[in-house]
Amino acid sequence: MGLEEIEKEIRSCRRCPLWRYKKNYVPGEGNEKAEIIFIGEAPGREEDERGRPFVGNAGKFLTDLIENVLRLKREDVFITNVLKCRPPNNRDPTDEEIIACLPFLIKQIEEINPRVIVCLGRFAAKTVFDHFGLPFTTISRERGKVREKNGKYFVATYHPAAGLYKPPLKKVIEEDFKKIRDLIKKRTLFDFFSK
Ligand code: URA
Repeated sequence: MGLEEIEKEIRSCRRCPLWRYKKNYVPGEGNEKAEIIFIGEAPGREEDERGRPFVGNAGKFLTDLIENVLRLKREDVFITNVLKCRPPNNRDPTDEEIIACLPFLIKQIEEINPRVIVCLGRFAAKTVFDHFGLPFTTISRERGKVREKNGKYFVATYHPAAGLYKPPLKKVIEEDFKKIRDLIKKRTLFDFFSK
Protein backbone atom coordinates (compact mmCIF):
# COMPACT_ATOMS: atom_id res chain seq x y z
CA MET A 1 0.00 0.00 0.00
CA GLY A 2 1.49 3.35 -1.05
CA LEU A 3 1.33 6.62 0.87
CA GLU A 4 -1.46 7.89 -1.39
CA GLU A 5 -3.62 4.88 -0.58
CA ILE A 6 -3.02 5.38 3.13
CA GLU A 7 -3.97 9.03 2.74
CA LYS A 8 -7.15 8.05 0.95
CA GLU A 9 -8.07 5.72 3.82
CA ILE A 10 -7.40 8.49 6.33
CA ARG A 11 -9.65 10.87 4.40
CA SER A 12 -12.62 8.54 4.74
CA CYS A 13 -11.95 7.50 8.34
CA ARG A 14 -14.75 7.35 10.90
CA ARG A 15 -13.01 5.08 13.40
CA CYS A 16 -13.43 7.58 16.23
CA PRO A 17 -15.72 10.61 16.71
CA LEU A 18 -13.05 13.21 15.90
CA TRP A 19 -13.97 13.23 12.19
CA ARG A 20 -17.20 15.03 13.13
CA TYR A 21 -15.40 17.99 14.73
CA LYS A 22 -12.46 18.45 12.38
CA LYS A 23 -12.38 20.82 9.40
CA ASN A 24 -9.73 18.83 7.53
CA TYR A 25 -8.00 15.52 7.91
CA VAL A 26 -4.25 16.03 8.37
CA PRO A 27 -2.59 12.85 7.07
CA GLY A 28 0.97 14.19 7.02
CA GLU A 29 3.29 15.32 4.26
CA GLY A 30 6.78 15.04 2.91
CA ASN A 31 9.13 12.78 1.07
CA GLU A 32 7.89 9.22 0.61
CA LYS A 33 11.50 8.02 0.73
CA ALA A 34 12.42 10.14 3.74
CA GLU A 35 15.25 8.90 5.91
CA ILE A 36 13.71 10.66 8.88
CA ILE A 37 10.11 10.99 10.08
CA PHE A 38 8.80 13.47 12.67
CA ILE A 39 5.75 12.48 14.66
CA GLY A 40 3.73 15.00 16.66
CA GLU A 41 0.62 14.60 18.75
CA ALA A 42 -2.35 15.87 16.75
CA PRO A 43 -3.23 18.74 14.44
CA GLY A 44 -3.85 22.10 16.11
CA ARG A 45 -6.14 24.90 14.94
CA GLU A 46 -3.98 26.09 12.07
CA GLU A 47 -3.24 22.54 10.88
CA ASP A 48 -6.96 21.72 10.98
CA GLU A 49 -7.72 24.82 8.88
CA ARG A 50 -5.07 24.03 6.28
CA GLY A 51 -4.99 20.21 6.29
CA ARG A 52 -1.21 20.25 6.76
CA PRO A 53 0.91 19.21 9.76
CA PHE A 54 2.98 21.65 11.80
CA VAL A 55 2.15 24.88 9.97
CA GLY A 56 1.43 27.05 13.06
CA ASN A 57 3.94 28.56 15.49
CA ALA A 58 5.21 25.17 16.71
CA GLY A 59 5.55 24.21 13.05
CA LYS A 60 7.68 27.28 12.35
CA PHE A 61 10.01 26.26 15.16
CA LEU A 62 10.13 22.65 13.88
CA THR A 63 10.86 23.83 10.33
CA ASP A 64 13.60 26.08 11.67
CA LEU A 65 15.19 23.12 13.51
CA ILE A 66 14.99 20.92 10.41
CA GLU A 67 16.55 23.59 8.20
CA ASN A 68 19.08 25.18 10.52
CA VAL A 69 20.15 22.36 12.84
CA LEU A 70 19.70 19.30 10.62
CA ARG A 71 20.47 21.27 7.46
CA LEU A 72 17.69 19.49 5.58
CA LYS A 73 14.70 20.88 3.71
CA ARG A 74 11.18 20.32 5.00
CA GLU A 75 10.43 18.51 1.72
CA ASP A 76 13.25 16.02 2.42
CA VAL A 77 11.63 14.65 5.56
CA PHE A 78 8.18 13.30 6.43
CA ILE A 79 6.06 15.04 9.06
CA THR A 80 2.91 13.61 10.60
CA ASN A 81 1.03 13.15 13.87
CA VAL A 82 -0.32 10.29 15.96
CA LEU A 83 -3.86 11.62 15.41
CA LYS A 84 -4.90 12.72 11.95
CA CYS A 85 -7.84 14.85 13.19
CA ARG A 86 -7.78 17.78 15.61
CA PRO A 87 -9.24 17.09 19.06
CA PRO A 88 -11.71 19.87 19.99
CA ASN A 89 -9.96 22.83 21.67
CA ASN A 90 -6.64 20.97 21.36
CA ARG A 91 -7.46 18.74 24.30
CA ASP A 92 -5.20 15.73 24.93
CA PRO A 93 -5.86 12.66 22.75
CA THR A 94 -7.76 9.86 24.49
CA ASP A 95 -6.50 6.27 24.56
CA GLU A 96 -9.43 5.26 22.33
CA GLU A 97 -8.54 7.87 19.71
CA ILE A 98 -4.88 6.81 19.73
CA ILE A 99 -5.79 3.13 19.35
CA ALA A 100 -8.21 3.93 16.51
CA CYS A 101 -5.74 6.12 14.60
CA LEU A 102 -2.46 4.31 15.24
CA PRO A 103 -2.75 1.83 12.32
CA PHE A 104 -2.43 4.78 9.91
CA LEU A 105 0.83 5.93 11.47
CA ILE A 106 2.20 2.39 11.51
CA LYS A 107 1.35 1.94 7.82
CA GLN A 108 3.04 5.27 7.03
CA ILE A 109 6.18 4.17 8.88
CA GLU A 110 6.17 0.80 7.09
CA GLU A 111 5.75 2.44 3.70
CA ILE A 112 8.39 5.15 4.18
CA ASN A 113 10.72 2.84 6.08
CA PRO A 114 12.75 5.70 7.62
CA ARG A 115 16.05 5.07 9.36
CA VAL A 116 15.31 7.65 12.06
CA ILE A 117 12.02 8.18 13.91
CA VAL A 118 11.72 11.38 15.95
CA CYS A 119 8.89 11.62 18.47
CA LEU A 120 7.82 15.14 19.39
CA GLY A 121 6.35 15.26 22.88
CA ARG A 122 5.19 12.66 25.34
CA PHE A 123 2.09 11.42 23.49
CA ALA A 124 4.01 10.62 20.35
CA ALA A 125 6.91 9.15 22.30
CA LYS A 126 4.77 6.94 24.52
CA THR A 127 2.63 5.73 21.62
CA VAL A 128 5.56 4.95 19.30
CA PHE A 129 7.84 3.48 21.99
CA ASP A 130 5.04 1.22 23.27
CA HIS A 131 4.30 0.03 19.75
CA PHE A 132 7.93 -0.80 18.98
CA GLY A 133 8.56 -2.42 22.36
CA LEU A 134 10.85 0.30 23.71
CA PRO A 135 10.57 1.30 27.37
CA PHE A 136 9.03 4.70 28.10
CA THR A 137 8.83 6.46 31.46
CA THR A 138 8.50 10.24 31.15
CA ILE A 139 9.47 12.56 28.34
CA SER A 140 11.96 14.40 30.58
CA ARG A 141 13.79 11.10 31.23
CA GLU A 142 13.58 9.63 27.76
CA ARG A 143 14.32 12.72 25.65
CA GLY A 144 17.63 13.04 23.88
CA LYS A 145 18.52 9.34 24.05
CA VAL A 146 19.14 7.46 20.82
CA ARG A 147 17.67 3.97 20.77
CA GLU A 148 18.20 1.39 18.08
CA LYS A 149 15.76 -1.37 17.27
CA ASN A 150 15.77 -3.59 14.20
CA GLY A 151 18.00 -1.17 12.33
CA LYS A 152 15.87 1.90 13.12
CA TYR A 153 16.86 4.74 15.42
CA PHE A 154 14.31 6.30 17.77
CA VAL A 155 14.73 9.67 19.45
CA ALA A 156 12.20 11.55 21.59
CA THR A 157 12.32 15.23 22.43
CA TYR A 158 9.94 17.76 23.92
CA HIS A 159 7.13 18.98 21.71
CA PRO A 160 8.20 22.14 19.81
CA ALA A 161 5.20 23.98 21.33
CA ALA A 162 6.68 23.34 24.79
CA GLY A 163 9.85 25.11 23.66
CA LEU A 164 7.75 28.14 22.73
CA TYR A 165 5.92 28.53 26.03
CA LYS A 166 8.85 27.41 28.23
CA PRO A 167 11.94 29.10 26.75
CA PRO A 168 14.52 26.97 28.70
CA LEU A 169 13.16 23.89 26.88
CA LYS A 170 13.98 25.51 23.54
CA LYS A 171 17.69 25.01 24.22
CA VAL A 172 17.08 21.39 25.26
CA ILE A 173 15.19 20.67 22.03
CA GLU A 174 18.01 22.26 20.04
CA GLU A 175 20.53 20.03 21.84
CA ASP A 176 18.42 16.96 21.02
CA PHE A 177 18.30 18.02 17.36
CA LYS A 178 22.10 18.22 17.33
CA LYS A 179 22.13 14.55 18.38
CA ILE A 180 19.73 13.80 15.54
CA ARG A 181 22.05 15.67 13.17
CA ASP A 182 24.96 13.45 14.27
CA LEU A 183 22.78 10.39 13.81
CA ILE A 184 21.81 11.19 10.24
CA LYS A 185 25.42 11.92 9.38
CA LYS A 186 26.54 8.61 10.82
CA ARG A 187 26.23 5.66 8.45
CA THR A 188 26.62 2.11 9.61
CA LEU A 189 27.34 -0.92 7.48
CA PHE A 190 23.75 -1.97 8.14
CA ASP A 191 22.44 1.31 6.67
CA PHE A 192 24.69 0.97 3.68
CA PHE A 193 23.21 -2.38 2.73
CA SER A 194 19.60 -1.75 3.72
CA LYS A 195 18.81 1.53 1.88
N1 URA B 1 1.17 20.13 17.27
C1 URA B 1 1.25 18.85 16.85
O1 URA B 1 1.47 17.93 17.64
N2 URA B 1 1.09 18.61 15.56
C2 URA B 1 0.86 19.55 14.66
O2 URA B 1 0.71 19.22 13.48
C3 URA B 1 0.80 20.87 15.11
C4 URA B 1 0.96 21.15 16.41
